[in-house]
Amino acid sequence: MDITAEPMEIAPPCHYIMGGIRVDADTEATGVPGLFAAGEVAAGLHGANRLGGNSLSDLLVFGRRAGMAASDFAEGRAGEPIFEDGELDAVFAEAEAPFTRGDGESPYEVHQDLQRMMQDLVGIIRTESELVQALDELDKLDDRAERLSVVGGRAYNPGWNLATDLPSMLTVARLVTKGALDRRESRGGQTRDDYAAADPELGKVTFVQRRSPAGEYLIAPEPLPAMPAELATLLEEERS
Ligand SMILES: Cc1cc2nc3c(=O)[nH]c(=O)nc-3n(C[C@H](O)[C@H](O)[C@H](O)COP(=O)(O)OP(=O)(O)OC[C@H]3O[C@@H](n4cnc5c(N)ncnc54)[C@H](O)[C@@H]3O)c2cc1C
Repeated sequence: MDITAEPMEIAPPCHYIMGGIRVDADTEATGVPGLFAAGEVAAGLHGANRLGGNSLSDLLVFGRRAGMAASDFAEGRAGEPIFEDGELDAVFAEAEAPFTRGDGESPYEVHQDLQRMMQDLVGIIRTESELVQALDELDKLDDRAERLSVVGGRAYNPGWNLATDLPSMLTVARLVTKGALDRRESRGGQTRDDYAAADPELGKVTFVQRRSPAGEYLIAPEPLPAMPAELATLLEEERS
């Protein structure tokens, strides 16, 4: 294409996602024993928006810490993992269920509709009405994801891979939407058309989401940890 002669389409793409998994800063351990997270998937390191170039240094430092802590965790374990009766059978049955539904939903179509809906309603500029609408749409997509159907065998089957990933994608989409709805301000990567300014009070908290034992999503603001004294001094020096 010669862009001096004809117009070129320009659209905003996703360059980075500041993930959301809460981790301990020294070990990258999550709330799930044995699960460690570093990089885009982890929360907290970059504040409200990542500065260009900081991702690769994040991976080097926190990827190393996660690896070391995971290795310590593995070494500290004794014996074989223990599963309750029927636990594995239930996981296999759920994973294989899409093969048994002849006329269910295509995972590709559900995936595409999820992408389109999130781009339209939970995109770069957000408003309350669109975020509420997105939660309704997610309910419908959840229902469709219960009826996914795939064909073929279990080896090298991208449709099946997508079918097993979709429930996690829907969970992440819901967490992003609920977090964006509750944070009634614009800050860093979050732009709310209906709350254009940053709210100094909201700048002191982070919204933490958890799943209750009954499967309900709970969201609550929690105070941000105080800035370590040496960083506060550095910032002060920078300002003066
Ligand atoms: C165009 C572009 C330019 C960039 N330029 C810079 C730059 O100049 N400097 C900088 O610091 N950062 C830059 N970044 C950001 C940086 O590259 C990324 O943030 C970083 O590579 C993310 O690393 P990660 O390990 O967190 O995630 P990823 O590299 O995305 O790793 C996640 C891995 O998980 C795998 N995976 C996904 N799902 C599953 C599953 N279900 N089972 C098993 N595996 C799975 C994926 O295949 C992938 O290998 C850029 C990003 C983009 C897109």
